[in-house]
Amino acid sequence: MRLLLLAPPGAGKGTQGWVLSHRLDVAHLSSGDLLRERAEARDSCAQLIREHQMQGDLVPDALVLEVLAPKVLHAAAAGGFIVDGFPRNVQQAEVAADLAAKHGVTVDAVVYLHAAAEVLVQRLLARAEREGRSDDTPQVIRHRLDVFERETSPLVSYYRKRGVLLAVDADRPPEQVTADILDRLAELTPGHRAP
Ligand code: ADP
Repeated sequence: MRLLLLAPPGAGKGTQGWVLSHRLDVAHLSSGDLLRERAEARDSCAQLIREHQMQGDLVPDALVLEVLAPKVLHAAAAGGFIVDGFPRNVQQAEVAADLAAKHGVTVDAVVYLHAAAEVLVQRLLARAEREGRSDDTPQVIRHRLDVFERETSPLVSYYRKRGVLLAVDADRPPEQVTADILDRLAELTPGHRAP
């Protein structure tokens, strides 16, 4: 199974990505986590990533692809993946599509988790108290939601037009969201139902 998770901040793509990767027995690749990991190095690329993540801006496409592409291609060859947080703009989607075609990799579905803005803000503020992520301040949260609207939301129609979008209501308890996604995937690809 090869899935992309498309979702605004706070919709639960990290949680769903983790659970689904276990249920479907495939690798979970979170672009945010992989970039945070890369940002720990002591070079200029790491510095650039830190600056963009701190502000809630998208990290430059070339850098994102450099970090992510080898891992996704490796996971594709090893049995499948759930990529959460990538692509995040149409440009990334187009480059990824070219790269995937070159390597004969296809995607089974793009799961779009949606919830109202107030729900997202509340969840992110609650997470800020629990985890203290540096980009979970009220101001940066607002900016990340704006960036999603402006840069990432055009991907909803981009993937809908390509017939691979599964839109899922994320304003429900996480187990219900997971069950819904698994049901919808099973309808899409009989035989892939999780044990
Ligand atoms: P959230 O969706 O809650 O913002 P993520 O961990 O997915 O959390 O992303 C955190 C930050 O990492 C983003 O604000 C952005 O700076 C960077 N990032 C993650 N994925 C991408 C991507 N595909 N392209 C550019 N920047 C990204």
